[in-house]
Amino acid sequence: MLQDKNPAKTDLSKLGEFGLIEAITKDVSLKNPSTIKGVGDDAAVMSYQDKLALASTDLLVEGVHFDLAYFPLKHLGYKAAVVNFSDIYAMNGMATQLLNGLAVSNRFPLEAIEEIYEGIKLACRIYDVDLVGGDTTSSRSGLILAPTALGVVPKGKEVYRSGAKPNDLIVVTGDLGAAYMGLLVLQRENEVFKVNPQHQPDLSPYAYVVERQLKPEARRDIIKILDELKVLPTAMIDISDGLSSEIMHITHQSGVGAQIYAEKIPIDPQTVLTAEEFNISELTAALNGGEDYELLFTISQKDYEKIQYRKEFAVIGHITEEPGDFLITQDNQKIALKAQGWNALKNKPSQK
Ligand SMILES: [Mg+2]
Repeated sequence: MLQDKNPAKTDLSKLGEFGLIEAITKDVSLKNPSTIKGVGDDAAVMSYQDKLALASTDLLVEGVHFDLAYFPLKHLGYKAAVVNFSDIYAMNGMATQLLNGLAVSNRFPLEAIEEIYEGIKLACRIYDVDLVGGDTTSSRSGLILAPTALGVVPKGKEVYRSGAKPNDLIVVTGDLGAAYMGLLVLQRENEVFKVNPQHQPDLSPYAYVVERQLKPEARRDIIKILDELKVLPTAMIDISDGLSSEIMHITHQSGVGAQIYAEKIPIDPQTVLTAEEFNISELTAALNGGEDYELLFTISQKDYEKIQYRKEFAVIGHITEEPGDFLITQDNQKIALKAQGWNALKNKPSQK
């Protein structure tokens, strides 16, 4: 952004806190009628009238959730915002405001912080969310992003994890496992780069899976589609930790069990090819990889005909009265799902 004209970096200590806030927020405009007052006072002011207010925080910590060796700062800001919006959509709500906490070491100049905020503001523009506040401070141990998303849901339309009923259908959006394969590709290229800095990786065969890792999207579109189709899920969650553990969150909180079918789980062909290359099962990536930010929900069987021809949805199984969460493999084995470290299909399962 500033690099071409002015390669010199701006030291944060010279800029001061007010200068930093001005630099970050000068192009922020407010779009949501629920935002009464944004940045510039001691607190933001919102009015949600007769709607229920939703709030969610999801931290991203350097070295735990991302590695700056392969994660561009703008993408990081974008992802930090989007994963928080995803939690609001998982309640069947709409994200309306975002506050962002940021801790950076003094090795970061203003330009680096502006890059992070470029990503945050891009996500806010795309998802119609107002950036209404936040805080920035110094960190001695790496970069930490702490966004909080606020949102609204009409009373009676809120969807919890706890509402799944026996015989409900289990539905997922999009496809699963790609973000995890993208992470493995980026980690592998980073290792090669450490040994040979001249190496120019060709990531084009992995474009989709890498994009799913670096630039995930949240499924706001699904909340609108469900509303149009007049389908109110009985339970819903977003897939941040992998399909297995998300299904178990729903069944545990609903006091039911689940049965899902391996062949029904939507997986992109590029995810399958990349998994083959890494000698892992694409099912493992889908079940335990995480970071797909798709929605997982349950619906009453009477709603099936409303969604059956929509390409956005895949019915992958059903809720059972008896507890226990099971995967039916393609060769008809019944395997208990585990939240993580599930190794049964590390080697490729037999194909039909
Ligand atoms: Mg979530």
